[in-house]
Amino acid sequence: MSESTTEVRLSKVTKRFPNGLVAVDKADLTIAAGEVVCLLGPSGCGKTTTLRMIAGLEFATEGDITIAGRRVNDLPARERNVAMAFQFYALYPSLTVEDNLAYPLHAEGLNRSAINERIRQVAKVLELESILKRLPHQLGEGEKQRVAVGRSIVRTPTCFLFDEPLSRLDIQLRQTMRTQIKEVLAKLDKPTVIVTHDQIEALTMADRIAVMRAGRIEQVASPHDLFSRPANVFVAGFIGTPQMNLVGATLLDTAASGGVVTARFHLLGETISAQVEAGVAHLSNGSKVTLGIRPRSFELVSSGTSDALHATIDLVEPMGAEVLLHLVEADADLRCVVPHTMKASVGSKVGVRCKPGQLHVFNESGILVQ
Ligand code: ATP
Repeated sequence: MSESTTEVRLSKVTKRFPNGLVAVDKADLTIAAGEVVCLLGPSGCGKTTTLRMIAGLEFATEGDITIAGRRVNDLPARERNVAMAFQFYALYPSLTVEDNLAYPLHAEGLNRSAINERIRQVAKVLELESILKRLPHQLGEGEKQRVAVGRSIVRTPTCFLFDEPLSRLDIQLRQTMRTQIKEVLAKLDKPTVIVTHDQIEALTMADRIAVMRAGRIEQVASPHDLFSRPANVFVAGFIGTPQMNLVGATLLDTAASGGVVTARFHLLGETISAQVEAGVAHLSNGSKVTLGIRPRSFELVSSGTSDALHATIDLVEPMGAEVLLHLVEADADLRCVVPHTMKASVGSKVGVRCKPGQLHVFNESGILVQ
């Protein structure tokens, strides 16, 4: 089977429920073999419905879903051969690790030697070989979780679908599990879709993230690209903590010199100039834009420094090695992260300036200008 036919592909997939609600709206998404794609977005944006349509638990109203080269729109779940897990289930306490792993395979009607071979492969990937004969109560927490993962991947489906798989785990286990799961999935060479509302989980587990809002896929990109080039204002504000500052501004003019474009903006009653992407030069002077500046892209400068915004410190929030400053200026709240060694007290006036090359400009429709 060629690589292109092992992928999962959604083309213009729409789900309209009988009550008229469009839960998923013309979703386009391709998940390659060995790739982990996380569906990320606020509650109700259509993540689970998308996953359920791939699994065959919901039928798409429009569009095409293909799995391993076959259009599956009209196939019931049992004929799609996908593995869907809602979480990593608890183990059967009276069964050994080996028998826990074998359990999902009995339902497939495999013979004993085929079952043993699958268990051997999964045990190798998850490093469970030395504990196959143990009972769950003889295992450490991490081992139990590895067996639970093993249970959900022991079959040989065409793709893996997980819905909030780590949501029931305690925070420490969640951290170790997400890196472990990523490693395991990479070895299995199948397309994987994971639904999560936890962006840290998505950023650590995904090769690519599909950010959804109100049924639409707003952007599909690697974690790094989502962070450094958010396609629009929604993604910019959704990805990254503390949240990106998004401030309305007017573009005054642009100038190009030696391949570098500089723009002057009017915002919060002040005028600043900053290095921008070349595309900003194509906007007309006077255009309304939104400027996006990550809290760590601001630097504190002394009052009166050119191109700085001037604001008053409203709140100082300790964050370990850093502090988060909440600044107010002209009715706007700005967030700025600085090292904890920096002296900052509530009520004092400070200057903040965006570090070079770290300003995002969104046009009047909220689309990133590049
Ligand atoms: P959450 O993170 O809260 O699980 P989600 O992003 O997974 O949210 P979905 O569960 O896919 O969102 O729901 C998308 C929208 O579709 C929501 O408005 C939800 O209320 C609606 N919805 C889901 N199932 C049905 C249904 N069977 N009938 C009508 N509306 C539904």
